[in-house]
Amino acid sequence: MVTATFRFYEELNDFLPPSRRKKEFSCLCAQAATTKHMIEALGIPHTEVEFVLVNGESVGFDRMLEEGDRVSVYPRFVSVDVSPLIRVREYPLGNPRFIADAHLGGLAKMLRMMGFDTLYDNNFHDDEIVALAGKEGRIVLSRDRELMKRRNVTQGCYLHAQKAAQQLREIVERLDLATSARPFTLCLHCNAPLHPVDKASVLHQLPPKVREHYDRFSTCDVCGRVYWEGSHWQNMRQILDGLIPNHGFAS
Ligand SMILES: [Zn+2]
Repeated sequence: MVTATFRFYEELNDFLPPSRRKKEFSCLCAQAATTKHMIEALGIPHTEVEFVLVNGESVGFDRMLEEGDRVSVYPRFVSVDVSPLIRVREYPLGNPRFIADAHLGGLAKMLRMMGFDTLYDNNFHDDEIVALAGKEGRIVLSRDRELMKRRNVTQGCYLHAQKAAQQLREIVERLDLATSARPFTLCLHCNAPLHPVDKASVLHQLPPKVREHYDRFSTCDVCGRVYWEGSHWQNMRQILDGLIPNHGFAS
């Protein structure tokens, strides 16, 4: 056994018991324990960690701990005055795609609303989520830290907030999604692309008031739902305006 000192930063403290938050604490480490092993043993899913410093030097998840090591652990987007830093994982290039666990239906809809491909089904089991994420290169979204600790989950975002709108804000900030959003391009129900459609072709699907007041429509090829810029749309726009000022979506 060796004894190392740990300090966790920013929201990583949420995973710790109050007595260990925002301060250094010493901890006995198993023989041949790596940084990853100990960070997870202390309750922090590896998906939440971006940088690890041991004795002031940036290291990977495979660094073995030695007697007297001082370990500092950081989430994404904190400025650390040490360089060069080794990120403990690679991020996928291009637009991120997601898979949300069964408790995050509200968040899944909001991500779709922003144009981010997000799988969600409240019948998904954890094993299916992990398998689909790996196969399709999706980022796992969950509030279940045991799910996030699974070794096969390489990309994940633990949501600290309980409400969907706040969860959306967390993800937008953490993954810097504001510039890659393409609002109102995906069906909120089935995650399929929406296409603009002539009013005449959907007239029979529209309530009388909608026929009267709206001229622009889009539709989903999968479920056939028709979308227009009604009150639901306006509510969504308000949420997006708060998250991504000047998102450039034509009104
Ligand atoms: Zn649809």
